[in-house]
Amino acid sequence: MIKTFTGPMHSGKTENMLDVYNGIYNKDCIKVFKPLKDTRDFCLMKSKTYDQEVPAIGIDRFEEILEHIDEKTRTIFLDEVQLMDGNLSVLSYLSIAEDMDIYLGGLNMTSEQDPFLLMPQVLAISDKVENIPASCYDCGREATLTYYEGEKSDAIKVGDEGYFPLCARCLVKRRGRDKIKKLMLSKRVKENTSE
Ligand SMILES: [Zn+2]
Repeated sequence: MIKTFTGPMHSGKTENMLDVYNGIYNKDCIKVFKPLKDTRDFCLMKSKTYDQEVPAIGIDRFEEILEHIDEKTRTIFLDEVQLMDGNLSVLSYLSIAEDMDIYLGGLNMTSEQDPFLLMPQVLAISDKVENIPASCYDCGREATLTYYEGEKSDAIKVGDEGYFPLCARCLVKRRGRDKIKKLMLSKRVKENTSE
């Protein structure tokens, strides 16, 4: 079984994973992983809200999970899965053939409102998906979008400085309707014509 907690920045994805983790009595049956690319909470499944941090095995590729599991492993946690590389089918294999429970946490969209790297595939192989809203930074309603304040050079920036969750209305207010139109629609046209 694969369950993925997704949603914008600060929506409580890790807290949801920690709830599951804390509910499992025998911790010997659990392996916790984290992408080495996540330099913010390096090798930790960590929540400020819960003041809890669980040590994690740092990996770059899904294949590396196979080197760390043993005959006792029944449950796997992997937070910030959007930063992982490698063969995603490793997770499907472990779920289907090894009957493991796999809990994933990851951002579904970038701050330009595009699907985040391999997250569409992650969501496709998940048996269960929980899309958790955050609280809008500006108005307090449910926020499903991540906004980035400022200029950035890379499309995918690691860390959470300058990022915050917004609802659609407040995102339009902050970014401006024209800029959103340009940002979102021009990208689609370019992709379609290149095919
Ligand atoms: Zn709002």
